[in-house]
Amino acid sequence: METSAKLPELFGSMVFNEETMKERLSSASYDAWKKSVTDGTPLELSTANEIAEAMKQWAVEKGATHFTHWFQPMTGVTAEKHDSFIEPAAGGRIVMEFSGKELVKGEPDASSFPNGGIRSTFEARGYTAWDPNSFAFIKDNSLYIPTVFLSYGGQALDKKTPLLRSIEKVNQQALRILRLFGDTETKRVIPQVGAEQEYFLIDKEVYDKREDLRLTGRTLFGNMPPRGQELSDHYFGQLKPRVSEYMRDLDNELWKVGVLSKTKHNEVAPGQHEMAPIYTDCNASCDQNQLAMELMKKVALRHNLVCLIHEKPFAGVNGSGKHDNWSLGTDTGKNLFKPGSTPSQNAQFLLFLAAFIKGIDEYQTTLRCTVASAGNDHRLGAQEAPPAVLSIFLGNELEHVIKGIINGTPYKDGSRKTLKIGIDSLPQIRQDTTDRNRTSPMAFTGNKFEFRMLGSAQSVSGPNIALNTIMAEELKEFADKLEKSKNFQADLQKLIKKTLTEHKRIIFEGDGYDDSWLVEAEKRGLKNYPSTAEAIPHYDDPENIELYVKNDIYTEEEMHARRAIHEEIYNAQIAIEARTMSDMIRRQILPAVSEYATTLADRIAVKKDAGFSSGYEAKVGAKISTLSDKLQLAQEKIDNDLKKRPADSTKCMKYSRDTILKDMNKAREIADQLEELTDRDFWPFPVYSEMLFSE
Ligand code: ADP
Ligand code: MG
Repeated sequence: METSAKLPELFGSMVFNEETMKERLSSASYDAWKKSVTDGTPLELSTANEIAEAMKQWAVEKGATHFTHWFQPMTGVTAEKHDSFIEPAAGGRIVMEFSGKELVKGEPDASSFPNGGIRSTFEARGYTAWDPNSFAFIKDNSLYIPTVFLSYGGQALDKKTPLLRSIEKVNQQALRILRLFGDTETKRVIPQVGAEQEYFLIDKEVYDKREDLRLTGRTLFGNMPPRGQELSDHYFGQLKPRVSEYMRDLDNELWKVGVLSKTKHNEVAPGQHEMAPIYTDCNASCDQNQLAMELMKKVALRHNLVCLIHEKPFAGVNGSGKHDNWSLGTDTGKNLFKPGSTPSQNAQFLLFLAAFIKGIDEYQTTLRCTVASAGNDHRLGAQEAPPAVLSIFLGNELEHVIKGIINGTPYKDGSRKTLKIGIDSLPQIRQDTTDRNRTSPMAFTGNKFEFRMLGSAQSVSGPNIALNTIMAEELKEFADKLEKSKNFQADLQKLIKKTLTEHKRIIFEGDGYDDSWLVEAEKRGLKNYPSTAEAIPHYDDPENIELYVKNDIYTEEEMHARRAIHEEIYNAQIAIEARTMSDMIRRQILPAVSEYATTLADRIAVKKDAGFSSGYEAKVGAKISTLSDKLQLAQEKIDNDLKKRPADSTKCMKYSRDTILKDMNKAREIADQLEELTDRDFWPFPVYSEMLFSE
């Protein structure tokens, strides 16, 4: 394993990054690539050919034999199809070839990827197109080329296409605002993202014995162990040697492919950990999070561990989420959400802040939809993750400033008069005071927003598409107004005050886990969609279609298709869980407890012959018999539920939640009681304590 002394060379060593391009391309080709990245100028085929040749040479030197167009279909995981560089040559030999055409465009058979009805299978061809904004990299002896995935009609079939569109939109609108403040230098505004990733590690042998974990990613049965997370000794606790080796190995792999993995620590639950990378531009960050999830799983296997990314692998202990840290940065190195030290910088900061607040308030529904999944339903609102209701936490000082602006009252110590935006400077906003509300779904943490509703298994693209688009929409509205203004300072003041006044209901500084918040939120008219079945039908509500269509992110057809895909994925997941549960009851639990009951009966007979009392065996045996009968009925109920699933996917979601999941919970309760009564040697699979506290 590489040592840290070599880290600077190790980092990005498997990435065809800007430095490598500069080194290996002619300056004309390098400039053409750079121009295509900054202004979206299309590349000439001759340039693509040169880049392909350089990429191939570099990759072959590093041991690559294949290349793959790497894309992000709607399944939420990545897809790839490998072709080798091999071309036959004279004399039965081979040469390694890779053309510009192969770099720029691929044609995977797309018929089996979810498309939400956009295409029927007979016109299944889709194509992948190189995204020159993200760097190619080598993994498993293959050159990975990040691509977008489109239908032949040009509709987006993936998560990257709309993301790139949203990045461009927010850039355009943010630049208009910057120009109004006299900034003529900035050429690009780029959303910045850092995604903190939680996960569980468990022993591979234990995992292999759990059909539910293997098929659904979560345990469908199991009692809390006598010891859970109540001692809070795991959180930031010392790493176990095997875990620590895993993390070192993982960091090495992540660094090689250019992921800036920075912190690693234990999380709240036993067996739970977190990886946080250093933030980077939104497009790269989304690619890297996908890559990180893949590598986490792959590296775990080398250590005889399994990495669980599911949102709720174990009932009763904390689940896993993802924090999407988001801000807007400029190519000149400024962060637009950093409260500045001059009056003018602060006016600009307050305008961006007002746009964000307005946007989150107006588009709560679409944001809620981007974090809706069967797995995340177990966490949101369950006192371990933010509620399912959107709100923004700003921190004490900023909240005071905003109250001051809204009410026209002194904003600090009463020592000053009302804050004149663009004339007075803001009080110092300290970063450490803003980070303490862990219950908020959207917290301002000094110079960025931390969106905390995301599930650990989901792609971060959806939430970032939403944040970028919402911001673009609000900035556009502001720019349209202010560009026409005859008195910029006065109109700016008015606009900020009006916006904050109209949207202050979305700001909430209290405890998001407290039930009283939901009552208050309802009074404020905030949207509450407690589960995926309630949220996703609003995915293509008219105001959402308008938002995305107007900003050229999705067409209306793509919106309907995406809603259908989310519904299908949810329904499929619940059906798989239900079938797995039924299978485990029929083929594992019932036979095992029956055997144990028989053993008890045998013992009763033996004891009786010996003249011993057998009250204990009789009591447990009777309980087990009663519970087994109940469990069998519960399992039949699940099988019947599955047969009656409505064909309509929206109805099926509601049915899955209201009927299938409820009946699954009932079955689990009975099975978990049986686990408590059954001799460990007879119980057919590992229990929670064996999964959560293994070394
Ligand atoms: P916290 O302690 O508030 O969680 P950290 O500084 O540890 O904050 O950062 C958490 C994550 O946020 C990291 O991935 C970090 O790189 C990222 N981050 C920091 N600053 C920004 C920013 N301006 N924009 C986006 N992400 C950021
Ligand atoms: Mg965080």
